[in-house]
Amino acid sequence: MPHGIDKILVINSGSSSLKFMLFSMKTETMLAKGVIERIGSADATLTYQRDGEPKSTEGVAALDHGQALKQASAMLIHPARGVLQSLEEVEAIGHRVLHGGEEFSEPVAVTAAVKDAVRRYFDLGPLHNPANLQGIEACETVMPGVPNVAVFDTAFHKTMPKHVYLYAIPVELYEKYHIRKYGFHGTSHKFVTEAAAAYLKKPLNELNIITCHLGNGSSLAAIKNGKVFDTTMGLTPLQGLIMGTRSGDIDPAVVFYLVNKGYTIPQIDKMLNKESGLLAVAGTGTGDMRDLVNAAGKGQPMAVNALAMFSHRIALYIGGYYTLLGGVDAVVFTGGIGENSYSARQAIAAHLRVLGVELDVEKNKSTFGTLATISRQGSRTPVVVIPTNEELMIARETFRVVTGTR
Ligand code: ADP
Repeated sequence: MPHGIDKILVINSGSSSLKFMLFSMKTETMLAKGVIERIGSADATLTYQRDGEPKSTEGVAALDHGQALKQASAMLIHPARGVLQSLEEVEAIGHRVLHGGEEFSEPVAVTAAVKDAVRRYFDLGPLHNPANLQGIEACETVMPGVPNVAVFDTAFHKTMPKHVYLYAIPVELYEKYHIRKYGFHGTSHKFVTEAAAAYLKKPLNELNIITCHLGNGSSLAAIKNGKVFDTTMGLTPLQGLIMGTRSGDIDPAVVFYLVNKGYTIPQIDKMLNKESGLLAVAGTGTGDMRDLVNAAGKGQPMAVNALAMFSHRIALYIGGYYTLLGGVDAVVFTGGIGENSYSARQAIAAHLRVLGVELDVEKNKSTFGTLATISRQGSRTPVVVIPTNEELMIARETFRVVTGTR
């Protein structure tokens, strides 16, 4: 083990929550995980779980992210419930950071300049970047001297060529405001790409696949020679697929039309990000795929139509990416829906027969959250389910940065 680095803490800091996961990198095992929720309110809670043990939830004092992290660290070193003797065992901390703009194509060790860059992208990631920075600053205060690494959701997509990432709008908008396609879920797309190379026994730099990360937020990536060639999300996560509550692609003129009808920009922003997608069209009152599949199974017309809309949009992009990549080694499903919903996978695959996709119906039905090939033997284009593990990927990236083994 280079430099003897073992214990790495992974932090995913949101505006009122802080998720943490502690890994032993010698075995790549998760030792404990937890989340502090409702940070800033009097009824903040800490949910904590040691590997293989039941979860517990209790009220804690966490008026800010610093206090939240103190509660998390106290639990990690708790004599009866902890997994560490002392916090000094934590050798590095990896942070999920949403937006790295044009600057970061790789995870980086946090410096003052990196924090300035995270701040510069507050307006591109207004919900996430400020919270991500609070998480970093909390670690600097509570665990001084431990190296922090920023792992950007956008970084893996930095290999997109210019003709793919530019929007066909006046070029000064790109030059002045950096308006372009960035892509998100990069950590997940990277994890499943590396896992697919190992599973398919192909060198990473020869791997051509389409990765489908389908969860509450969803995106596809076209992977060419192990690197991102295109992805469905854009300047923000709103572009692309139909998601739990996001519309994905629409005609931008819808926005002007609504403004002319008296809607405000914040109203439209909320509508497209929080009140659209499956929530708006499934007729189930939620954006959750399980509810949609149940309702569609009972023949409820809105749900049946919503599943058709969802799979139509995904198939449209898979077909396009397949063409642009000149064929693929596999289509890979991941994320809560991709890993668990055989109905969603079946609805998507039904569009892909022309690409040589033939699902093994039984294998598809029996695959939940496990690594498996769900296409028939002899299917020209294999279909594979690979459970994602963004936290482990962040831990691996952090390890690579602090040990200089990139
Ligand atoms: P997030 O983007 O918040 O990380 P997840 O990746 O956990 O979300 O995905 C959440 C989605 O996965 C929800 O739509 C949920 O219905 C769906 N999902 C989870 N488990 C199943 C299941 N067993 N069958 C169908 N859909 C599922």
